[in-house]
Amino acid sequence: MNKPKEKKRKAVVLLSGGLDSMLAAAILLRQNIDVIGLHLYTGLCITEHKRRTGQHDAKGRVPQNPAFKVADDLGIPLEILDISSTYLDIITKPKYGTGSGVNPCKDCRIHMFQYAEQFRQEIGADFIVTGEVIGQRPMSQVKRNLNFIHQKAGLEEIILMPLSAKLLPPTLPERNGWVNREQLYDIVGRSRKEQLRLAKEFGIQDYEQPAGGCCFLTDENYARKFKDLFQFDPDRRLDLEDVILLGVGRHFRMSERAKVVVGRYQEENAVIERHAGSRPILRAAEVMVPWPLLLVFPMFKKNN
Ligand code: SF4
Repeated sequence: MNKPKEKKRKAVVLLSGGLDSMLAAAILLRQNIDVIGLHLYTGLCITEHKRRTGQHDAKGRVPQNPAFKVADDLGIPLEILDISSTYLDIITKPKYGTGSGVNPCKDCRIHMFQYAEQFRQEIGADFIVTGEVIGQRPMSQVKRNLNFIHQKAGLEEIILMPLSAKLLPPTLPERNGWVNREQLYDIVGRSRKEQLRLAKEFGIQDYEQPAGGCCFLTDENYARKFKDLFQFDPDRRLDLEDVILLGVGRHFRMSERAKVVVGRYQEENAVIERHAGSRPILRAAEVMVPWPLLLVFPMFKKNN
């Protein structure tokens, strides 16, 4: 008698657009798992900021969300979820501290996993996959922090990290035989050597170069402006306009309630103008620079 055909298992892979999550997805695809990509939009992605302000990548192209390309290259469906509205509250009042900038990585990951779990249940997937590597990032990927984050999200049994799985206790997908643990990896640390070897093995040639992550909150300059904003307006409810304006121009603190933002080039001026909201804009009529300076004054007002 023929053995009944095993149900094909389905996994949600958190796709940042970087090589690690791409490899995680490729490893699962090789095991004949149905893979669905999920990209969580926070509003704080540096790539998006570059596109918004007219910058180009090293090859002169307009930067795009790399998750699109990754999903396309792997031939998997991709869902983009905008989590910015709840995310902005999380980053202003993190429960579990911040990294070297204003990056609340533990809170952020817990929040992301909660969205991923909701999505997993909606589409009837069996487990969640990430490209996380033990010891690669100081805050969110230290082993004990990874455990903490997965446990706080209530998902430690169903989050699979294919790149470091062999260094961790077997998860449900491994124990149930949905995934072959022998074909997973034991990568640890910040070296990219093993990932580059794997990329070659999978025939992956074109991928995002790791450049300090795709998150403004880890950026030193951004963190300075962010802290300044909350120093003078501690109860402020951050919105997307703030997030965007914090990323452009030169910022000059004039008083407790007033700050001037000076656009440095035409595209930045356009961004400031688009996102100034009700804040006053001053234009310099005659200046000896290629583009008129645009001032927003005051930039930040107390919430009513
Ligand atoms: S670097 Fe930014 S996006 Fe990544 S986990 Fe930390 S806060 Fe979240």
